[in-house]
Amino acid sequence: MKRDFQDHFPQLYESGHLLFDQPLAGRSSFKIGGPADVLALPHTQKDLIALLTYALQKQIPYFILGKGTNLLISDKGIRGLVIGMEGFRKITRDENYLSAFAGVKLRQLCEFAQKEGLAGLEFAHGIPGSVGGAVFMNAGAYGGEIKDVLYCSKCLIPDLEHLTSFDPILHLRAEQHDFSYRMSALQTRGLIHLSSVFRLTEDDPAAIQARMKEIERKRLDKQPMDKPSGGSVFKRPEGHFTGKLVEDCGLKGYRIGDAAISDKHCGFIVNLGQASAQNVLELIEFICKTVYDRYQVSLETEIRLVGEW
Ligand SMILES: Cc1cc2nc3c(=O)[nH]c(=O)nc-3n(C[C@H](O)[C@H](O)[C@H](O)COP(=O)(O)OP(=O)(O)OC[C@H]3O[C@@H](n4cnc5c(N)ncnc54)[C@H](O)[C@@H]3O)c2cc1C
Repeated sequence: MKRDFQDHFPQLYESGHLLFDQPLAGRSSFKIGGPADVLALPHTQKDLIALLTYALQKQIPYFILGKGTNLLISDKGIRGLVIGMEGFRKITRDENYLSAFAGVKLRQLCEFAQKEGLAGLEFAHGIPGSVGGAVFMNAGAYGGEIKDVLYCSKCLIPDLEHLTSFDPILHLRAEQHDFSYRMSALQTRGLIHLSSVFRLTEDDPAAIQARMKEIERKRLDKQPMDKPSGGSVFKRPEGHFTGKLVEDCGLKGYRIGDAAISDKHCGFIVNLGQASAQNVLELIEFICKTVYDRYQVSLETEIRLVGEW
């Protein structure tokens, strides 16, 4: 399979954007994860479409990787093709609208908006993912969500009929994203995000910066930002706060191997050094069981478990 990729995509290979047996730990905020059989880092829509078309024709499984900040990648890694979106990095302004490609870091987008005197994205400052991952997850914090500012997106429908058609791009208006809590049509329909336009409002850059700083301060106060993690492990269960439930079960600091429940925020699992994905998975299962036995509350993971388990 690797040789076939190399022969089929010689330019990507020669430019170092097609890699084999590439460890993914360095591409995950948990610093955990085995290798990808094939890791492609396209920089053009044409290459992205060609890679997807090839994978579908050869029935090779593929996975789209953003910044890897909401993932637990298995120790065995990911079979088939992993497509990293970091090559898609443009931001442009048109009046009060900012357009950003999938691989733009959310932090970069927030800082760009602030400098341009455009408000609305302050809530996202400090969420460490990419624009593609944020739209896919409907990321949110401190009372805001992507859905509040998103105007429209461009996506790919990953099937051969669409990819090989004259115009493979799907244009989604805001309401067509079917956003809800950490959920979007990109997840339910398996769409690949290319870019989005965000509708913002004019404001004083200094006032925007002050709000961003305040949000950053709150995050640093409450969350273990100094240790590798995947953010909040669980979705917020209706009527409860996960961190409090876990803390009330006496689990603060509890660890399996080097995977530990953060003593700063019990909704986070942190990697103390050499944690494996298996350690994290066992800890997740232990938390779910303990919380259910004590409070009859079912926890659902927000982080996505990917790869071969
Ligand atoms: C310390 C820390 C704090 C965090 N705080 C928050 C928070 O406050 N709020 C919040 O909502 N999240 C938070 N997160 C989680 C995470 O940052 C978000 O979910 C983020 O949106 C994920 O983006 P990503 O690029 O890292 O996606 P990844 O983790 O790479 O991928 C997540 C999912 O999105 C898919 N995906 C990524 N890019 C694309 C694309 N272009 N097209 C299609 N699918 C794609 C992937 O296939 C995967 O299924 C936090 C994480 C950490 C580590």
